[in-house]
Amino acid sequence: MLVALTQDADPKAVQQALMARGLWIAATMRDLDGRQVTYRIAPYSGQVDPQELRGIAGVAAVLLPAPEHPRMDRQGPRVAVGGVAIGDEQPVFMCGPCSVESEAQIHAIADRVAALGVQFLRGGAYKPRSSPYAFQGHGECALTWLRRAADQNGLRVVTEVLSEHDVERVAEQTDLMQIGSRNMQNFALLKRVGQTGRPVLLKRSMSATVEEWLLAGEYLLLHGASGVVLCERGIRSFDEHTRNLLDLGAVALLSQVHRLPVIVDPSHGTGRRDLILPLGRAALAAGAAGVMIETHDDPGRALSDGPQALTADELQRVLRALQGRKAA
Ligand code: PEP
Ligand code: MN
Repeated sequence: MLVALTQDADPKAVQQALMARGLWIAATMRDLDGRQVTYRIAPYSGQVDPQELRGIAGVAAVLLPAPEHPRMDRQGPRVAVGGVAIGDEQPVFMCGPCSVESEAQIHAIADRVAALGVQFLRGGAYKPRSSPYAFQGHGECALTWLRRAADQNGLRVVTEVLSEHDVERVAEQTDLMQIGSRNMQNFALLKRVGQTGRPVLLKRSMSATVEEWLLAGEYLLLHGASGVVLCERGIRSFDEHTRNLLDLGAVALLSQVHRLPVIVDPSHGTGRRDLILPLGRAALAAGAAGVMIETHDDPGRALSDGPQALTADELQRVLRALQGRKAA
């Protein structure tokens, strides 16, 4: 947003009026003879009605950039998926293993998490792994196991689609298509997934700005997705004590100011199972619509991400503390 001053304005008085409204001046621009002053307002400023700013003495005009992501701006805080409203009063929970490891495993976990009131069964059939030697997922078989385990337990499925080649196959077996962190800006994939007309869980790339994340959501909606649910899963930081840096500021901003549904994933966000409960609480207090928690029958033997997974017994204790909570 640009705020242009009248030639006879008192710049100090205008600055004070802007700051009093929670606005930060990111840059001051002057014309060649230095008489015309325009302020560029920083994006991290508070939300203020431009009409109110036009009424400040010394303000000649307020210029707004064209909206970059109009569909995301209009979407609203609720996305319905298979009869579950994400973004409603009650938080939703998405639980299950990092990878679907066997048919027996996913059935056993589905059975336990359904009994705890979880709405979505998660589990990767196609796994994005940093090492090509690491377990890559059971692919199509795992999709079928996941679907059957969910159906038998009244759960919805959320699973990652890793490649354009698998979009149809995943769409057939899934209620909520997950775009993983590493693919948030794979624009060809975003377009293809959007074209299925399905709702999408869009994980934040580990180095994406909020603006880039919203623009990725815009790709999905522009190409036909029925809804976009954002998922904060931590961004890269300089610190090794947590796997990632869970950005709860972005969660509060997107859910409470932009009014969009945001799921928080403290498993990937910290890499530590002992931080899932405190960060689950913090996420819901910040306005998250729900929490994704990796859950494993035997985390010590998990084929991926064991240290950040809870057992079903541990999940039960965590859910008891989180269920029924919502933003303050
Ligand atoms: C996952 O949810 O299993 C996953 C791979 O997450 P992310 O894309 O956030 O790393
Ligand atoms: Mn994982």
